[in-house]
Amino acid sequence: MNRKLKIFLSILLIIVLISLIIITIIKLITSDSGKNKTNETSNYSDTAVEAMKEMNLYGKINNAEYSKTIEVLLEDQELQEKYLDDYYNINYTNITNFSTTINELLDKDYSSEEINYITENMKNDINILLNMEHVDILAFQDLSNFDINNLERYLAYQEENEDYDLATVVTYVNIGLDKEGYSEYTEYTNEEAQNDLTILVNKYHKLPDDYEPNDLIALSYNSNYYLRKEAAEAFEKLTNAGLLDGVIFYPFSPYRSYKTQEVLYNRYVERDGQAAADTYSARPGFSEHQLGLAVDVRSNTLSDNLTPEHYEWMLDNSYKYGFIVRYPKGCQHITQFMEEPWHLRYLGVELATKVHDSGLTYDEYYDLYMK
Ligand SMILES: [Zn+2]
Repeated sequence: MNRKLKIFLSILLIIVLISLIIITIIKLITSDSGKNKTNETSNYSDTAVEAMKEMNLYGKINNAEYSKTIEVLLEDQELQEKYLDDYYNINYTNITNFSTTINELLDKDYSSEEINYITENMKNDINILLNMEHVDILAFQDLSNFDINNLERYLAYQEENEDYDLATVVTYVNIGLDKEGYSEYTEYTNEEAQNDLTILVNKYHKLPDDYEPNDLIALSYNSNYYLRKEAAEAFEKLTNAGLLDGVIFYPFSPYRSYKTQEVLYNRYVERDGQAAADTYSARPGFSEHQLGLAVDVRSNTLSDNLTPEHYEWMLDNSYKYGFIVRYPKGCQHITQFMEEPWHLRYLGVELATKVHDSGLTYDEYYDLYMK
């Protein structure tokens, strides 16, 4: 290579390098001075420094560790000296009205730990807490079905039921048990009822008056007994499995229309009074039988019940064919119906197995795992 060209290229390279160094130095200088600091030793913004000076807290705050929370409070003119130690333990989060919210929570005796939990996990619902007295909010943190919209109801229900642990309180309130059955309920659409075989029907969840499953088929036992196709086929398998174990049972009340349920329920009310009828018969629209996914079974030796042996067999085996015993013994306070060993609900094998293994009623299981 030409010697002159080599020298020229070397000089050019040196010039480029020097330019780069100069640019870097300029950048460093401008970025340092570009933060609008009144004092070179402060990490806080001008506005914040001004505010701390006004409060005679400049030395105290500026010499301590930088806190974004404190900076924002100062900028918002919301810093309260009495809470200074708490502020240092509170993480800044980008919520609306951060400063006033923090102060209001501190006024309500929330600890910095609680406040950090609240601002991280309940961003959009803090107003609920601001409208209430202090709540031991961390006690709820491991409960997956906790719903802050029900918080006041949890507290009221807990007071009335001191022997329930918090997990039970949350689940029972979510089910609706703090309110009289039928007093408040959600109503499904026909589509929801038709398309979801796992649908929960109880005194808090109603079917449309005109809901009728579109795939009812007759059971082999009686051509006037209907269930939805999938449930009917599963029921035949269940019956055969029972036969193999010497457990002989028959269906005696399968699908019932809204109209049939109405006639039945009214007859019971006339006979026993409404309060009594409500413990064993669902009001029209609230019966699983209207789903075409429930069937009452009787032992071959009984007219409308299972023998204790057959009931045990049903508890241990029906889930294998997709059925659960929907109103088991000892669960009346949850299901809101007296025990009905004979009432089976079809959920499909997978879900029925999970519900069986959980040991929970379907009402509880639904709240904990299906929502
Ligand atoms: Zn039944």
